[in-house]
Amino acid sequence: MNMIPYGQQKIDTADVDAVTDILQNGWLTCGPKVTEFENHLAEYVGTKHVIAVSNGTAALHIALLAAHIGKEDWVVTSPNTFLASANCAEYVGAQVWFSDIDPVSYNLDPVLLEKNWKKGTKAVVAVDFAGRPCNMPEIARIARERGAFIIEDAAHAIGSRFVFEDKEYKVGGHPWADLTTFSFHPVKTMTTGEGGAIATDNDELAERCRVLRSHGMQKTRADEPWYYEMSELGYNYRITDIQCALGLSQLNKLDRFIQKRQEITDRYNKAFADRDWISCPQLFKQSAFKSSRIAWHLYVVQIDFSKIGKNRAEVMSELLKKGVGTQVHYIPVHTQPYYQNKYGYHTGNQPIAESYYEKCLSLPLFSGICEVEVAQVIDAVLELIK
Ligand SMILES: *Cc1c(COP(=O)(O)O)cnc(C)c1O
Repeated sequence: MNMIPYGQQKIDTADVDAVTDILQNGWLTCGPKVTEFENHLAEYVGTKHVIAVSNGTAALHIALLAAHIGKEDWVVTSPNTFLASANCAEYVGAQVWFSDIDPVSYNLDPVLLEKNWKKGTKAVVAVDFAGRPCNMPEIARIARERGAFIIEDAAHAIGSRFVFEDKEYKVGGHPWADLTTFSFHPVKTMTTGEGGAIATDNDELAERCRVLRSHGMQKTRADEPWYYEMSELGYNYRITDIQCALGLSQLNKLDRFIQKRQEITDRYNKAFADRDWISCPQLFKQSAFKSSRIAWHLYVVQIDFSKIGKNRAEVMSELLKKGVGTQVHYIPVHTQPYYQNKYGYHTGNQPIAESYYEKCLSLPLFSGICEVEVAQVIDAVLELIK
């Protein structure tokens, strides 16, 4: 029996050749492949600057630093995300505020964001959950009216697009985020092993991200080439040329990866459509804003566990016995002991994210999954109720 994980990278011989070539002939770090990867990515998402870094968390950290977010500032994010979207605010000494999600998109709900706006908020970290773009035009309106930066955590959403007022925009290449971050961890849609990137159209923010990526070092004198200055504390968040060679090769295939994920999503949607105990990701059609291409990173269903008479742990173990790996995205971040202890946040604060969490389950979704495996997943899920 095949063991199917919930997510997995897809590496082919072109990827292996690209990496081998660098190992034999190239710079290992700080070389031309880094710049080439940044340029290709900038072109792909339609932005002016891309700064590639060691991982998606590092990208969020220096995005906040570049935006001068620090002590006394509040940063608001979604409770339905990976820890990093909130932790980045803690790294810079800022405080974390959560705002609840929309029950259809599972993204930050702009209405609640505006209603529960915390005085002193200087940045919004908007997470494109599962690959679905947030309503960025509306989030940006709310944030900009209140003088806050907009950081889009697009770790799930490389290649996603949305339509606003009849025009299509790409995640990473639209005017409603000051900085957009990506992750290239192996479970994400494309990989560099570990890796991340920041996209921005803003020259000054881009330059700050570059400097912060490498210890805060700046070359300030053309006539004294050895000379550098550090005026601000930076980090070693560099990515290697080996990783960027892999990233370039993966980027060539990204649209095919996305297409494949879309096909799998369609098959799941069809298979589970008429069951009253499982609900699939819903598309929603607001008038001014809607997704035009969701580059699905996760396929998350909501299961009514009481209806099938099994709890989630039992369901996961039953599926695992049939070779189907599943995962839970996400435990609401405000209920983590760290955030509970530090801020007094608790279960009950973000009821929509919490009730979503009670029912969510992520099924296998990755571009290397084969037809037989998709059928295996569908059968195993439908057999949960007999
Ligand atoms: C994966 C992920 C990150 C962090 O990326 P890493 O590359 O693992 O550091 C940040 N935000 C979200 C929503 C993620 O899924």
